[in-house]
Amino acid sequence: MLVAVYRELVATGEWAEDPNFLARIRLKPMRTLSGVTTVTVLTKPYPCPGECIFCPTDVRMPKSYLPDEPGAMRALQHEFDPYDQVTARLEALHAVGHPTDKIELLILGGTWSAYRKDYQQWFIRRCLEAMNGGAPAETLTEAQERNETAAHRNVGLVVETRPDHIRPRELAWLRRLGVTKVQIGVQSLDDRILALNRRGHTVAEVHRAFALLRAAGFKIVAHWMPNLLGATPQSDREDFARLWQGLAPDELKIYPTQLLANAELYEYWQRGEYTPYTTAELVDLIADIKTTIPPYCRVNRVIRDIPSTNVVEGNRRTSLRQDVHQQLVERGQQCRCVRCREIRHHRVDPTDLRLDDLPYETDTSKEHFLSFVTPDDRLAGFLRLSLPTADAPATGLTDLRGAAIIREVHVYGQSLPVGEERRGAAQHIGLGTRLLKEAEALARQHGFHRLAVISAIGTRQYYLDRGFQRGELYLIKPLV
Ligand code: SF4
Repeated sequence: MLVAVYRELVATGEWAEDPNFLARIRLKPMRTLSGVTTVTVLTKPYPCPGECIFCPTDVRMPKSYLPDEPGAMRALQHEFDPYDQVTARLEALHAVGHPTDKIELLILGGTWSAYRKDYQQWFIRRCLEAMNGGAPAETLTEAQERNETAAHRNVGLVVETRPDHIRPRELAWLRRLGVTKVQIGVQSLDDRILALNRRGHTVAEVHRAFALLRAAGFKIVAHWMPNLLGATPQSDREDFARLWQGLAPDELKIYPTQLLANAELYEYWQRGEYTPYTTAELVDLIADIKTTIPPYCRVNRVIRDIPSTNVVEGNRRTSLRQDVHQQLVERGQQCRCVRCREIRHHRVDPTDLRLDDLPYETDTSKEHFLSFVTPDDRLAGFLRLSLPTADAPATGLTDLRGAAIIREVHVYGQSLPVGEERRGAAQHIGLGTRLLKEAEALARQHGFHRLAVISAIGTRQYYLDRGFQRGELYLIKPLV
């Protein structure tokens, strides 16, 4: 109500616009503090090729979702219609005071690649039409072109899928759809545990999928599950360490296995073959592994948002992140992941920032995590640069031949309406441009003759303004 009255007063000219005031009355301000506004939508109920024993089944929902999870509930209300879901979400976010001009579209629901391609295309076209203010488009390409200058620009597009669905041909398809980030179910890096839980893929396939996604410049979010059938807290600690040996995901969702009555694991539990960890065991485990996470990775979640009433036995606390952080404080330890170091609402003095270069290696690339850091170790912005090695798999993507690849540029600050300035907000002091220049110099230094960037539809103009040219599926800059 406060936001509505504020907007009305501004519209009638009785009040001057005041972004700082709006920031104080905004509901759930954390939602957009990382710089973009996320809109989550779900695809329609559809079977998944997976047979994972821990995964719940509900005929009303896409595989693995429950109708009373917050995002899922909204999707169900809109009968999974993409246009209605996006429109309603944009209106709701606007009503509680969030900016809606830069939108990361997060598409959830089972295995994206298992849906028919015409459905995938239609789904994204309809989402974009909603972001384009309702203007209909004949084709996905038309909707994408319109979105480049629309009121609600798509600055990131995320889908979730299985490792065994990532093939070279899928990479180009995902790019054509406009995808910039892929969430991938890893769950475990132990073939015995993968088989016991009937994941239907191997660890080698996870490595292949990561190599392909990385070679195509996608940002990679790994889902990892402790407490699967056959695991112990100790085996989980060892398993987690394997994530950083060659795979090195950019983001991570830790989803402790939750025992649900509508998943097959329930029968194992009834027979006494499965025991969920207690909350204390889980907090201990996550606190242990959290301090081992490299600073280039962002931990998005440490528990899935499943209402505790669905959990049969084991941890029911959904505030696990706070419990883990409390435990770390008591131990005198700190997590240095991206999320824990984000600048949030702190002001940035550009003259105080230090440029850090964190190099690390993966199975198929040398990576550089370039970041601007404040004197108290907070991240004001970062860039992910991939320098493919000779082991990098062939992607068949002509734009990327012989190119160093920028996979992400992220500068923090409340996502300000385009063109609006606020003193000290990191997004507006040229940090992105400086990071790009640094990446360019590094790529040149390592003998690359061109630089490619994976760009969402709504950020293309940003790169075009900085010397990049349109390629087929990426933006390219020759390095001369
Ligand atoms: S692949 Fe994912 S959605 Fe499909 S059954 Fe397994 S966990 Fe569930």
